[in-house]
Amino acid sequence: MSTHHHDVVVIGGGNAGISLAARLRRDGCRDVAVVDPAEVHHYRPLLSYVAGGLATLDDLRRPQADVVPEGCHWYADRVVAVDPERSTVRLAGGQELTYGDLAVCPGSQVDWDALPGSRAAMATPSASTSYLPEHAPDTWTMLSRLREGRAVFAVADAHVPCAPVALKPLFLAADHWRREGVLDRIEIDLLAEADALVPQARADLLLREAADGYGVRVRTGVRLASVDAGARTLHLRTAGGTEAGGTDAGGSAPGGTEAVPYDVLYLAPPHRAPAWVAASGLADDGSDGLVAVDPGTLQHVTHARVWGLGDAAAVDALPSGGALRKQVPVVADNIAARHSGRPMRRYSGYSVAPVTTSRRHLLLGEFDRAGRPEPTVRVPDLVRPRRSLLLFDRYLEPRVYWHRLLRGKVS
Ligand SMILES: Cc1cc2nc3c(=O)[nH]c(=O)nc-3n(C[C@H](O)[C@H](O)[C@H](O)COP(=O)(O)OP(=O)(O)OC[C@H]3O[C@@H](n4cnc5c(N)ncnc54)[C@H](O)[C@@H]3O)c2cc1C
Repeated sequence: MSTHHHDVVVIGGGNAGISLAARLRRDGCRDVAVVDPAEVHHYRPLLSYVAGGLATLDDLRRPQADVVPEGCHWYADRVVAVDPERSTVRLAGGQELTYGDLAVCPGSQVDWDALPGSRAAMATPSASTSYLPEHAPDTWTMLSRLREGRAVFAVADAHVPCAPVALKPLFLAADHWRREGVLDRIEIDLLAEADALVPQARADLLLREAADGYGVRVRTGVRLASVDAGARTLHLRTAGGTEAGGTDAGGSAPGGTEAVPYDVLYLAPPHRAPAWVAASGLADDGSDGLVAVDPGTLQHVTHARVWGLGDAAAVDALPSGGALRKQVPVVADNIAARHSGRPMRRYSGYSVAPVTTSRRHLLLGEFDRAGRPEPTVRVPDLVRPRRSLLLFDRYLEPRVYWHRLLRGKVS
């Protein structure tokens, strides 16, 4: 078995890992390695637009070799274990890496087992998701072809990346159905496990108003139980056989479930961290399998040389790419602070929710971990839906991503 040492090893070359590696290089760190088996890098926020008919997969893909920062060593391999006591990382191909500091950011993955029947449903033309590239184009095919019936949009709560953007396909489809003159013939249900559509009160209110404008029945605080693909029925868990949530969207059954039949089902599925995170002792009882970090400094709670950021870290905030604009500089600076003894920077829990309210408008919620507004600019008011915001989110933000964020130009 061959062993290599690097000052900083970054596990995962997604949004978090590439931005951090680039930022470390900009800051003068000479020996940074990135481990990621993916040959293709995805700008995942555009998946929502693929699912809404406003983008293609080609718009969001680049060869991974093109985004790995110059001067970084790239291991195109998969991490299978970390031993934080020995400061080693084991790769599937048999290599072992040792590190000075380790940044753990392998993202989260869809947890089909957490919602029985959901994987089988995805194999049918009546159910889809924007959360995986292989399904996003089919989502638009499914939604755009619907002419009548019942469209159910279900949003799980467990670690769904930037969960509010699951509403993008809903609003893009509802506007499409209105333009096609079929909206009146389609019943639309939005079933969200979270208590709010967005963690920020005003953005939540505006989204509910926008949903109301399309006749969408909105229920929050529901519990998704299972999907019966054959019967095209989503089951909700109810407390002691009573209905979950507000207005009636289906038949309540004894035994604690409520059946919600659908003609088409859009699902934002539950996610979880890769299993090797917990198996390597990097999670703890309170972190639900995610990397257990101090949510302020992003340093591991037990292992001082280990850091966690992005969708796989227990940062007590809505996971999003926008959040990484704040997390990346905190980790980069705190790695240096650990060496120099300087006080560490803290992450506020900043996150974002860019949600289309039509095919022309988008609102942007920006908030801290308590849901308090944390706007990047005071004027104009970005929570109000705007045409300019949709154009920015769809066309300009991807350029900012490839040319600034992935090059470590975050402060
Ligand atoms: C459909 C969708 C829409 C979204 N829309 C928005 C939006 O509009 N705005 C916004 O701010 N955010 C949005 N997000 C969230 C944003 O994309 C994520 O928060 C962000 O990508 C998280 O970055 P990450 O690096 O933690 O994870 P990822 O970007 O998922 O990257 C993880 C990387 O780790 C690699 N990896 C996994 N396992 C291993 C392993 N064992 N060894 C080595 N490498 C491994 C993977 O190959 C991957 O490249 C969206 C996400 C999705 C899925």
